[in-house]
Amino acid sequence: MRDQTRTVIPPEASTEGFASLSVPTYRASTILFSDAESYAARGQRGLDGYSYGLHGTPTSRTLEAQLTELEGGARTVLVPSGQSAIAVVMLTVLMPGDTVLIPDTVYPPVTGFCANYLKPRGINHRIYDPMAGGSIADLIDETTRLVWVESPGSTTMEVQDVPAIVAAAHAKGAYVGCDNTWATPLLFKPLAHGVDFSMHALSKYAGGHSDLLLGSVTVSDLELRKCLRDTMRMLGLGISPDDASLVLRGLQTMGVRLAHVGKVSLDIAKRLAARPSIGEVLHPALPNCLGHEFWARDFAGCSGLFSVVLPASAETRLGDALSKLKIFAVGSSFGGTRSLIAPMSVKAHRALPEKPQEGTILRISIGLEDPEDLWADLVTLFDALREPQEMARAL
Ligand SMILES: *Cc1c(COP(=O)(O)O)cnc(C)c1O
Repeated sequence: MRDQTRTVIPPEASTEGFASLSVPTYRASTILFSDAESYAARGQRGLDGYSYGLHGTPTSRTLEAQLTELEGGARTVLVPSGQSAIAVVMLTVLMPGDTVLIPDTVYPPVTGFCANYLKPRGINHRIYDPMAGGSIADLIDETTRLVWVESPGSTTMEVQDVPAIVAAAHAKGAYVGCDNTWATPLLFKPLAHGVDFSMHALSKYAGGHSDLLLGSVTVSDLELRKCLRDTMRMLGLGISPDDASLVLRGLQTMGVRLAHVGKVSLDIAKRLAARPSIGEVLHPALPNCLGHEFWARDFAGCSGLFSVVLPASAETRLGDALSKLKIFAVGSSFGGTRSLIAPMSVKAHRALPEKPQEGTILRISIGLEDPEDLWADLVTLFDALREPQEMARAL
């Protein structure tokens, strides 16, 4: 072997006696075969075998298997983002002429995908009241192939009666997909309630550090896994092993992070709800939250994301008030170590009339800072949002 070849082909280091707790990060496009025969037969390796880096490496397979166990499913697929996970499910299930039902409280880019991508291709969507429960049966006709649920709903936190929706959908031959990002599989297990596709934005609690984007879909039915993988292969979708490795690391601490932010978020939500003139606090673990009874029945706890509906009178002071924050950062997304506040306006995203949510809603994501520092920051914020005369009265 000459030097130039030596620069290309490294010698093999022994792995004997080596063991570590971490999952190795395997980067690969090419997968090697031992001989021509096994290369020719690569198509028979099946979906759990290795054929090309795009379709999986031991790193991504480890993450898939870990999520599968947590979800109580049969297989998991990994895609580049939460949004692509939703898109892959819809593109897999829906054909021209079909209809998908999405809740009014769905993650807003999903409505965009339905309206701007699916609709021009002959796939329809209908928007339903997230509190529909079993009465969703009235909206399911012979064209309905998929009912999407997201519980709690984006920003306004309505908890859906998932088992009732699943029963109604399955009775009429429709699949159910669930965005389980808020709860993670530690707090809610959609597949145990009959859901067909349990989807996550791993970018949030699983990643846990606001530094990656990844999505997953877990199913109980191997045939559905095959259909998802077919769609992914056609679209050329795969993920980076480095991102998978970061999620494997994030999962190690997800349980303790979630237990902590769940406790702190509920404590802060209760303290905010008890203060005058703050506006309505929307947290699934508080009884005023729509669907609170379904949360109490189906969920094992709460995560760190909740919202406060601001009174209209606070609107003009919002910019100033937010600039006083020292600990909370202003930004969307959630599930990381840093606490975030995102001022949201849901009106533009909602199709159904009703609801008091005309004005700004502050979506609060609790992170891992000291809870009393967070509380002090929120007191500063909400004091700055109050009418000057109210402040004077309170003094
Ligand atoms: C963030 C989020 C998504 C999208 O995930 P990305 O990885 O950012 O594409 C989908 N659903 C919910 C509920 C989310 O919070």
